[in-house]
Amino acid sequence: MNKVLVIGCGGVASVAIKKCCQVSEVFTDLCIASRTKANCDRLAAELEGKTATRITTARVDADDVRQVIDLINRYQPNLVMNIALPYQDLTIMDACLSCGVNYMDTANYEPEDTDDPQWRAIFEKRCKEKGFSAYFDYSWQWAYREKFERAGLVALLGCGFDPGVTQAYCAHAKKHEFDTIDTIDILDCNGGDHGYAFATNFNPEVNLREVSAPGSYWKDGHWVEIPAMSIKREYEFDAVGQKDMYLLHHEEIESLAENIPEVKRIRFFMTFGQSYLTHMKCLENVGMLSTTPIEFNGQQIVPIKFLKALLPDPASLGPRTHGKTNIGCIFTGKKDGKEKSYYIYNICDHQACYKEVGSQAISYTTGVPAMCGALMLLTGKWNQAGVHTVEEFDPDPFLAALDQYGLPRSESHSPVPVD
Ligand code: NDP
Repeated sequence: MNKVLVIGCGGVASVAIKKCCQVSEVFTDLCIASRTKANCDRLAAELEGKTATRITTARVDADDVRQVIDLINRYQPNLVMNIALPYQDLTIMDACLSCGVNYMDTANYEPEDTDDPQWRAIFEKRCKEKGFSAYFDYSWQWAYREKFERAGLVALLGCGFDPGVTQAYCAHAKKHEFDTIDTIDILDCNGGDHGYAFATNFNPEVNLREVSAPGSYWKDGHWVEIPAMSIKREYEFDAVGQKDMYLLHHEEIESLAENIPEVKRIRFFMTFGQSYLTHMKCLENVGMLSTTPIEFNGQQIVPIKFLKALLPDPASLGPRTHGKTNIGCIFTGKKDGKEKSYYIYNICDHQACYKEVGSQAISYTTGVPAMCGALMLLTGKWNQAGVHTVEEFDPDPFLAALDQYGLPRSESHSPVPVD
């Protein structure tokens, strides 16, 4: 019997929960918790009679460690899945440590309040030392390594698609395809169309913070930072077609550089349409992406939070999104003394996801790996104590689970390189 506490009940969590309920023999009991219990109750009602998993719901504000500890003590889970926001990573990790429970999440820590002077001092030091200026980085969660190791607990970080599956693809390439890997290009293509001039496919605040930040990549042992959206390539994606893609900073580059140290260059590209970029630039220019509160009619408002309230809820995009995603990694390196290249990717269809779980493919491609990561922890396939990212574990059972539960891999041994 396994009791799993899922914190968060948004777009990604809803998919992960529905997928867990398809594997009731492992996920025997689930508690769904967020600040708005009504959302958790609605999802539980939708699943009633359709699964053997026993579902309960709870209210929790995961910014408050005490509340998470109380909930864990009441529910007694053997795993906590944090599918709320990156802002809650540290409080939930603290609660897991305090109660002796395994932890996992889908995105690495960043603070909600980027004006907090204590956080800013550490952030500015890191920007100088490391050479990239995204708000998020692994140092905050890697600082828990010893504590989790000593407690004999596992913390699995970033188990969505990217980060997540992309790192499993890297571990797979290292294990089965190469003796040494020279370059990794991670390509994230969303060929879906939702018909809106502007909307984001996951939490708008987290998404816009990420894509409006300067880009960066890893080259010969250090970071190279570039202005946002200043490196553009065109690529012909299988099942999608030709798309413009832009180099972004992305969290898995940091852990891959540490865990596969031989790699000389790691880059991350994401596709964007012109309408998205024009809207984002305009919103940025007028200050709507700012995380700094302003006074409006006697009230403090954070511009990017106000914008989030105006934009379509990503969870509502499912019925109207058509087209496919194609996300994967291209590698170059050597096997048996010979140069080779290799591409591994997944193609996912927005409408097929909607038919299966009522959501678009971005939530699906994140929620399914979250379920599969939980499956690895609950079945003991991934059980090394400490704080780990996906590439540190055996990719074989995880990729087999993804093949089985909706995200099968495709491969090419003669991919078109990205220049
Ligand atoms: P949503 O905004 O749709 O959902 C977030 C959920 O978290 C809501 O249910 C919200 O409910 C809950 N929540 C927020 N704050 C708290 C809190 N203090 N305490 C308890 N619950 C809270 O986000 P998404 O589903 O789009 O994204 C979820 C996560 O997945 C994010 O961390 C995102 O960065 C990550 N992600 C990862 C990807 C990957 O490939 N690795 C890709 C896409 C997303 P309420 O406000 O009621 O509490």
